[in-house]
Amino acid sequence: MTDGQFRNLTVSRHPAVLHKLALLRAETTEPKKFRELVREISWLVGYEALADARVTTVHVRTPLEEVEGVRLADRIGLVPILRAGLGMVDAMLELMPTAQVWHLGLFRDERTLQPVEYYNKLPDSATVDLCLILDPMLATGGSATAAIQVLKHWGARRIKLLNLIAAPEGVAAVEAAHPDVPVFTAALDRQLNEKGYILPGLGDAGDRQFGTGHSE
Ligand code: URA
Repeated sequence: MTDGQFRNLTVSRHPAVLHKLALLRAETTEPKKFRELVREISWLVGYEALADARVTTVHVRTPLEEVEGVRLADRIGLVPILRAGLGMVDAMLELMPTAQVWHLGLFRDERTLQPVEYYNKLPDSATVDLCLILDPMLATGGSATAAIQVLKHWGARRIKLLNLIAAPEGVAAVEAAHPDVPVFTAALDRQLNEKGYILPGLGDAGDRQFGTGHSE
């Protein structure tokens, strides 16, 4: 469902997504279960994000007769933002087994809240039709706008941003800087706190996937 507040935002309202989200948010959810939920919700968000993917016609012979079917025609590049975006990759590869995966390392300077690029594994030139940026949390929008900028500079023409939880501040920042980039998320939360964490959110998506610490 498109969110009334933002032109480019689609928030999933599917009961299966909402059910899994509640489990994902719970502080008692252990990393193993958390990773499973990230994968499952990513699959459902990715499914919605691909609703307008291009297809070509193929002919298939069933055991009974010939039938016309379709095959995904878009060459798709997945761009997980390290490190939290890694947990979304497997689900997307299940949906689109032929997608390429390019890693982009951006960390958030906790003092300035600005993104700093530390790793970039994009090929020399744009080789795909559609880039999907994967990052569970859209907080200030700093990393997302920086990643989109990197991809546009590299030559990507169609870009979509896939998140699990977004803050209004982040969606507004992406929409202002890149109005041509649709955002798909499982939830639109209330706000950011003074440390840039999403409220109510789920804490630090990287720490919770990889068991590396506690967040407030
Ligand atoms: N990144 C996270 O992992 N969680 C937040 O709440 C904000 C940014």
